[in-house]
Amino acid sequence: MSEKTPAVVNNPAARSFSELPLSPAMLSILQQLEYHNMTPIQAASLPLTLAGKDIIAQAKTGSGKTAAFALALLTNLNPRRFAVQAMVLCPTRELADQVTQEVRRLARFADNIKVLSLCGGSTMRPQCESLEHGAHIIVGTPGRIMDHLERGSLNLEALNTLVLDEADRMLDMGFYDDISFVLKHCPAQRQTLMFSATYPEGIAGLARKFMRDPQQVTLQEKHEANKIRQRFYEVSEGERLQTVATLLKHFRPVSTLAFCNTKQQCRDLLDVLQSHGIKALTLNGDLEQRERDQVLIQFANRSCSVLVATDVAARGLDIAQLEAVINVDVTPDPEIHVHRIGRTGRADEDGWAFSICTPADMYRVDCIAKMMGSEPEWHLVDELKTTNDERLVPPMVTLQILGGRKEKIRPGDVLGALTGEAGFTREQVGKITVTDMSTYVAVVRSIAREAVKRLSAGKVKGKTVKVRSLED
Ligand code: ADP
Ligand code: MG
Repeated sequence: MSEKTPAVVNNPAARSFSELPLSPAMLSILQQLEYHNMTPIQAASLPLTLAGKDIIAQAKTGSGKTAAFALALLTNLNPRRFAVQAMVLCPTRELADQVTQEVRRLARFADNIKVLSLCGGSTMRPQCESLEHGAHIIVGTPGRIMDHLERGSLNLEALNTLVLDEADRMLDMGFYDDISFVLKHCPAQRQTLMFSATYPEGIAGLARKFMRDPQQVTLQEKHEANKIRQRFYEVSEGERLQTVATLLKHFRPVSTLAFCNTKQQCRDLLDVLQSHGIKALTLNGDLEQRERDQVLIQFANRSCSVLVATDVAARGLDIAQLEAVINVDVTPDPEIHVHRIGRTGRADEDGWAFSICTPADMYRVDCIAKMMGSEPEWHLVDELKTTNDERLVPPMVTLQILGGRKEKIRPGDVLGALTGEAGFTREQVGKITVTDMSTYVAVVRSIAREAVKRLSAGKVKGKTVKVRSLED
């Protein structure tokens, strides 16, 4: 436990849990767990949540969000009342399991608090039996909880606290409708806590519909800038696009966002990258919605190495896990530069930001350096190893299944089909995205062909489906 303890413990300004209105029994559990001081997100959110407020909280992974909401929901709980009083929605079974464990540890402050996990992928019957025996706290995935509500095995009349953990990820996975359904079945008189690493439009929509005057708690990540390793390369205009390929082959990032100043430059770069066998896609205003979805889905699920875009096309894109940003052209606006490179190095990952500059760009680079308050770090293209002939291939391939929200397909149905009858492992399946008409699932490259075959031969949600790989 001690190696995981957040750094705040040695910080003299750290705040102790004892400042909070927590019971002595709870404080003693925290002592036992060696949680001596609050992490920053706990210090920022607990005074609000313990006062009964709804919150929307943003903080990076590993910052102690679970205890932040667990302490709030446990404080609202009456252990002697044998009914579901709190529920936590999580995107996946793995996350639900982690949350269940942490909530169970903290729930030891009282006797016999029952925490039950309800996730897809397990059979319904044992879950229904456990529910009949009663539980105080439910942790689960939206689809499965919806199933229980539909068949009447889960009663939420006594619910007083609802938590949406990793809300942005749940939306990414296509759970918007399921979450809305569940929220509509919760008593209106309740406290709602939402945790989300990012703040896309869907989150704001959920908050407007289902929360009461939510307070925002956002923790600035002070080290963000340091995690971005920024390098500038000087080349001649004629070498610019080739240099992008050289950088990619040398650093081999899984996901790169390449910014160009014009649409024409995007098209030219795409040609160059494709001639190097690099899987690149571009976003522009001419794409239909469905094509745009497919580009973004393939990029986000790691089956496309490079997304090429102008600043306008990339506006509002929210993509986690970017290993690199390349400024193919230097932007005349230093603020845009900072915004561009801020897209890499998120969460706990380090990120690269490369800028390709010609002598004509030097004035722009000076403006950027002034704005950032640091000298640009120049590197030579010649230092980059181009001898690496191994192709840069994305780890995943996207399969498209015809049939989506309209057919009531959920991510769990596809995961179930692949890991059940088709015989693949969970680890071979990546992100699953359900759109209105289609479902997209990323699978590791080596099983792509076989997965298309077995999915086509088998059934998804009891029906035969048409499947194709987006790479054919
Ligand atoms: P998050 O959900 O923000 O990614 P977690 O809730 O999983 O983070 O917490 C990360 C780790 O920090 C866990 O191992 C947890 O036990 C530990 N932890 C949480 N709060 C504290 C604290 N106040 N002091 C020490 N360790 C803590
Ligand atoms: Mg968490």
